[in-house]
Amino acid sequence: MQTGQTHLFIPGPTNVPEAVRQAMNVPMQDMRAPDFGALTLGLFEGMKSVLRSTTGTVMFFPGSGSGAWEAAITNTLNPGDKVLMARHGQFSGLWVEMAQRLGLDVEVIDVAWGAGVPVEAFSARLGKDCHDEIKAVFVTHNETATGVASDVAAIRRVLDENFHDALLFVDGVSSIGSLDFQMEAWEVDLVVTGSQKGLMLPAGLGILGVSEKALEASKTATMRRAYFEFSDMLKMNADGYFPYTPPTQLFHGLRQSLDRIATEGLDAVIARHHRLAEGVRRGIAAWGLSLVAEDRSLYSDTVSAIRVPEGIDARDVLRIAYEEFNTSFGSGLGPLVGKVFRIGHLGDLNEGMCLTALSIAEMALYRAGVPLQLGSGVGAAQAWYANAAQAQPMLRIAAE
Ligand SMILES: *Cc1c(COP(=O)(O)O)cnc(C)c1O
Repeated sequence: MQTGQTHLFIPGPTNVPEAVRQAMNVPMQDMRAPDFGALTLGLFEGMKSVLRSTTGTVMFFPGSGSGAWEAAITNTLNPGDKVLMARHGQFSGLWVEMAQRLGLDVEVIDVAWGAGVPVEAFSARLGKDCHDEIKAVFVTHNETATGVASDVAAIRRVLDENFHDALLFVDGVSSIGSLDFQMEAWEVDLVVTGSQKGLMLPAGLGILGVSEKALEASKTATMRRAYFEFSDMLKMNADGYFPYTPPTQLFHGLRQSLDRIATEGLDAVIARHHRLAEGVRRGIAAWGLSLVAEDRSLYSDTVSAIRVPEGIDARDVLRIAYEEFNTSFGSGLGPLVGKVFRIGHLGDLNEGMCLTALSIAEMALYRAGVPLQLGSGVGAAQAWYANAAQAQPMLRIAAE
């Protein structure tokens, strides 16, 4: 018999706020009713603000982040198009695989798991592409497997410096609504996210931000698509309707999530993620453990991937946390299985929850045989959280 709450510290699905859960608990409604747009039309606008775009177009497809990947690719590219991608973790790797399966000519730059998108290598490659053979450049903003946040703005700069016309695709599944992301300023052409991460909802929506340039490309793109056809979606969306049955419950939840983000303020949400993540990182450092991310500049504020010491199996840490302390952490993925566990710190979260995550991780590590001082990580994080508001007046101003 399990008592109390179970704890979910995985990088998606994330905790759904009680107000969002309640907002979804409504009777089924007619998705062709004359007033259906009253629910949906505001969502497109709200989502655009979260993407920091005024000229982009938002689309909601039933599905998950991976479905939105497919929608982005099939609507804007042609079979055999050359695209440039980096592989530095499980998710960037899966995106490469999808692009290959869909028939793109993928040029992959492999870098270490723990590195970011290789800006210099992209620049060199784009500089040599005098005839603009590369049709799109793909960036995984936040590689969830390694806890690495890459510099999307730098990739835009590199495209501009090389006078290159390629479309800029961004996987923002574990960054949108949590990390600084600027669709307009960075001239991102296609950004993809899902409902179950920073947006604090159940899984079920694949969300896209599409630039005017990408919409233009979609008019002539010849890759096969049916369910994910942009033009079918756009035609119906104009009045707030959908070409097939939409997940209405999720729309009610999304309304509530977008309101929460707007009330807290997007800048404050981003600052909170930084403040909470920094406390988690200080705890990890106090244990004497290191992150997969190679450099401080790459640290993700939504997920930390933690290496366990040689001779310890990270799967034991996960199992002990789950079976004995009702707590889920993220597992190591791909080559990091057994070597790494992850703490997801995104979405509806506060200091007390992060301290719980650290406290339980500490016990599970200790029990799995890691020689650490119980309380050390929690203490280091407390020292940060107790003073973070004063030490970071800028963040406090942003929060007000
Ligand atoms: C979770 C995640 C995905 C996959 O999204 P699904 O919603 O599971 O399809 C893709 N990319 C990144 C970076 C993710 O974190």
